[in-house]
Amino acid sequence: MEKYLYTPSKTSSSLNLWMAYPAKEEFALSSLGYMWLYKLSDTHDGIHSIRVSTDTPLPSCNPDAVAFSLSFDFDFMGVLELLDKCKIPFLAAERNDDTPLIFAGGPVITTNPEPLKAIFDFLIIGDGETTFIKVLDILKTKPEKNEALKQLAELEGVYVPGFNKKVKKATDELINVIYTPILSDKSYFKNTFVIEIARGCMNRCAFCTASYINLPFRCYPYEEIIEAINLGLKHTNKIALLGAQISAHPDFNKIMNYLCKRIDSGENIELGISSLRTDSVTPEMVKILVKGGQRTSTIAIEAASERLRKLINKNLKEDQILNAVKISRENGLKGLKIYSMIGIPTETQEDIQEFITLAKKIKAENKRFKITFSFSTFVPKPHTPFQWCKREDTKSLEAKQKYLEKELSKLGIESKFSSIKWDYWQTLLSRGNENLTDFLIEVYKNGGKNGAYKSALKSLNITPGKAIEGFALTDSLPWDYIEIYPSKQLLINEYQRLMKRS
Ligand code: SF4
Repeated sequence: MEKYLYTPSKTSSSLNLWMAYPAKEEFALSSLGYMWLYKLSDTHDGIHSIRVSTDTPLPSCNPDAVAFSLSFDFDFMGVLELLDKCKIPFLAAERNDDTPLIFAGGPVITTNPEPLKAIFDFLIIGDGETTFIKVLDILKTKPEKNEALKQLAELEGVYVPGFNKKVKKATDELINVIYTPILSDKSYFKNTFVIEIARGCMNRCAFCTASYINLPFRCYPYEEIIEAINLGLKHTNKIALLGAQISAHPDFNKIMNYLCKRIDSGENIELGISSLRTDSVTPEMVKILVKGGQRTSTIAIEAASERLRKLINKNLKEDQILNAVKISRENGLKGLKIYSMIGIPTETQEDIQEFITLAKKIKAENKRFKITFSFSTFVPKPHTPFQWCKREDTKSLEAKQKYLEKELSKLGIESKFSSIKWDYWQTLLSRGNENLTDFLIEVYKNGGKNGAYKSALKSLNITPGKAIEGFALTDSLPWDYIEIYPSKQLLINEYQRLMKRS
């Protein structure tokens, strides 16, 4: 069942817009960015907006335009699946004036649209809210395709391949709080009212796109957040606060205290926070989470040793980690997941050894408290100071994984690892160029499993090259045409500053 927290537009519509999510509906319903843009289109005069996911039936009316939202590198599979279902040619150049305009936005597109750009007629780079409305205003006048693209290329944050050579990332001022506009029991986060309280992160860890593509760090006003919380709690008791660095909101404690008071007054509120910032975990914060029904949480330490945490600009000390675990245990959480990466540039066996030593200390100090370690491998990402770095060799990462699994299991600690193979393909997609489009189509046609990637590389005679091996600081990069702060020169300066710490 779906519960709308807004009133859809009732005006007659000139534009049939399919809001396409390249995965199952349960994930579409839990994607805050996608759902919010759907709400914006559904309340916009002249737009008939329809949600489409890979597992929902196709709408009966033909679209005039199809908007995709891409959050993950592998979302291209869902894009191609939906185009395939609609019998729309994959490449924009193969479509004629009568086929609908197909466009996309989201973090994957902002980070590096190169491998996918030939599929779309145009792309939204950066924050979507303001630009999306401007795009709809152009589309609903139904200009002829070429004229529409000409007008769209004039908008800040819109990249029309073949029309503009550079594009400036759109950065919105955060005024109206973004929250779950439709509650649903079919959502991955069932009937949960999610509120974005801040966007980006000031910490600027050297690998982190969540920080770098969302600079500057911005927060919503306190009053707006409380108003949104009040609206959400009228309809559900499950509430989650979202943001890469929510505890840096200047009124974070006030927001938590507001929720705490309501819980203390007898309301059955389930409160969720995706992860705690290790150096700012406080007993008060943990107590509120526990009161709100949270049993476990996550802290991200990101790297195996103190040296590496300094190198990546995480600057987290061992005693801060031990303290965060202690506070979590002493204040009622039942367990904690500790997340880290392996394969960070310059990482050695000594760093991995330091991690085991830390794990031993954590275990010794926190008996009967459930600790799980979760690892992924370093995937260098565009627009970060580590965008030039080499991806570590798969065999060497596998050896590190094996060693960590063995040593942690000796300590009785559970460990989980992301797939090294899939992280490899993610690196290729993240830093690839336009030559990858045919490769992605081939992967899709062959079912999208690991073998499909391997055979597509072979059959199309593609060498992963610098996307895996890394770039020189003097190289031009596939995504250089995106104007974003900090500039490439500032990223070079930051890379060199951090590398001196190795
Ligand atoms: S603290 Fe987390 S969100 Fe912030 S920059 Fe570092 S990794 Fe990214």
